[in-house]
Amino acid sequence: MGREQILRALSELSSLGMRHVSLDGGEPLLHRHVDEVTSFLVQRQVRVYMNTNGILVPRKLATVRLLSKVKISLDGPAACHDAVRGEGAWRKAVVGALAARDAGVPVELTCVVGRHNVDHIDELLAFADHARFSVVFQPARTSLFVGVEHPATGTQLDGAEMRRVFRRLEAAKLRGCRAVGNRWSSLRHFRDFPRDVEPPCAAGWINATLDPEGNLFHCGQVSRAGRPPNVVALGARAAFDALVRGACSQCWCARVVEENYAWGGQVHRMLPPLGVAEPAARRPRRLKVVA
Ligand code: SF4
Repeated sequence: MGREQILRALSELSSLGMRHVSLDGGEPLLHRHVDEVTSFLVQRQVRVYMNTNGILVPRKLATVRLLSKVKISLDGPAACHDAVRGEGAWRKAVVGALAARDAGVPVELTCVVGRHNVDHIDELLAFADHARFSVVFQPARTSLFVGVEHPATGTQLDGAEMRRVFRRLEAAKLRGCRAVGNRWSSLRHFRDFPRDVEPPCAAGWINATLDPEGNLFHCGQVSRAGRPPNVVALGARAAFDALVRGACSQCWCARVVEENYAWGGQVHRMLPPLGVAEPAARRPRRLKVVA
């Protein structure tokens, strides 16, 4: 979509009642219209979240300040993160996270758990605890898209290992570790992952995913093949009405899982175990990154 098409689609979607948008990538801060898109949405009282690698955050603070939340991927301590993303990537991600937080924007770290970092989760938690960030953990898969298998990259843990890691994270949260950002519902969901567990599915009812060509999907985690309804061709209302909705049993994105259980009203999955209180939020700590 070109600029006019993007703004028209967003305008139509906000008229339909869209309340928040997660800008995703690739890297959204590299998009040529990211500044205008963000302020366009904010002017319409739409809350804007962003998933970013953090690198451009310090240079794009005027836009970042408009965001309701910044989510930055961190795979582990510096050596572990840089082995995946290139030398210096950890430092840039953390500098970006601190810059966003100093600008008053809530920051959430995201960690995809796989073979590359399974032995470094405790170090990541220790760092996040010290820096007073929280990390949302989710399992690595061979493809972002449910039902689309890529040749194994060697990153994905086997089921038993995956469940072991999430049990440890759940135990840490139970002990009051505020660095674990997952809510109880995703931790409970991942107790069984990747065995089939079908959550209530809000996809296509209260949310949808728009790709750069204007194709609309009920869920961001489904295959991008086929002929999805297109907002440029049909308009946003007709495209949304034409969505083919359907749950699956491999929901892997932690925040989507949590949203699903909340939408389904499964309060027993969302509440802390009896006798465990949700820890209070902490004041951020000022840090200087020297690594
Ligand atoms: S269950 Fe999760 S992954 Fe599956 S369609 Fe629904 S939101 Fe998407």
